[in-house]
Amino acid sequence: MKTAVIGIDIGGTNLRSALVTASGAIVEQRRSTSGIETGRDRFCSRLLASIDELREEAARRGIRVHAIGAGVPGLIGRDGLIHSSVNMRPLEGLNLGSFLEERTGLPAACGNDANIIALGEQRFGAGKGLSSFLVVTIGTGLGSGLILDNRLWTGANGFAAEFGHVTVDPQGLPCPCGNRGCLEQYCSGGAVVRAARELIPAGLLAPAPPEPGAEAVAALARQGVAGARTAFERLGRWLGIALGSLSNTLNLEAVIVGGGVAASFDLLLPGLRAELSQRCFPHIYDGLAILKTELGDDAGLLGGAALAEERLHVP
Ligand code: ADP
Ligand code: MG
Ligand code: ZN
Repeated sequence: MKTAVIGIDIGGTNLRSALVTASGAIVEQRRSTSGIETGRDRFCSRLLASIDELREEAARRGIRVHAIGAGVPGLIGRDGLIHSSVNMRPLEGLNLGSFLEERTGLPAACGNDANIIALGEQRFGAGKGLSSFLVVTIGTGLGSGLILDNRLWTGANGFAAEFGHVTVDPQGLPCPCGNRGCLEQYCSGGAVVRAARELIPAGLLAPAPPEPGAEAVAALARQGVAGARTAFERLGRWLGIALGSLSNTLNLEAVIVGGGVAASFDLLLPGLRAELSQRCFPHIYDGLAILKTELGDDAGLLGGAALAEERLHVP
């Protein structure tokens, strides 16, 4: 009998889930908005509904589902407890691992979304063959996963690589984490829209609410609207400012850019390169590859499946 695990990628904007085979093939997937603003219960119902749909589809195809692996933004304990999630506050305090196990009867492994994406890129994507790299996922916020000497670096308490909350401007914008001037406030989907509102003539972007997404700014950039291009260039610059410090600290082989905003990788690359080349030692910059995700939106799904296989010893 064929087997699969369910990989789940939970984000402040999007909720994705998929049936993934051991070789990393996505057999079937579901996607919707996460709808976290409607609260925890509704979000959890949505999540369970997508799992049920995938299990029904698996049954139809004669596939046995072994386990669930899920990525969530924030500080996630090894046991699946969501300690902190600044962009998905209603989930804080939930033990997602126990919740999924109780409600589905399947073993479940949970971790930080970007850490899981880093595992996905290492195993199946742009990280193959690399030993030390940072994956930066730019979406609702900015997440990251750090692979050092082939291993995911999780730090003293398992919470490492919150690169979105390094300070780039000491007196800068307040961040929901409680700090000021965090990178995430300058380098995320929402940050591009905020920058674009200052840079482009009023009327070109739809008024809020609902706030248009960064894809609307990208579309304007591709039509040649200068301010929209500048908004992405600035985002790239902020990322380069923070990454310059990290690169000088760690001398990485690569940074891999993922998340929804990576669809506009070409638009942010010039700003990113400009800052990195200026701030890194040349010896360090020359050894640093700047790569776009090879897995795109599938990274979190494949990574979630990889986490489940690793932690739960799926046959
Ligand atoms: P999350 O995991 O936080 O739910 P995603 O990684 O799915 O987020 O990315 C969603 C973000 O990507 C949104 O801010 C959206 O506006 C942005 N986005 C989607 N498409 C594009 C695009 N073509 N160019 C730039 N940004 C985009
Ligand atoms: Mg995400
Ligand atoms: Zn912060």
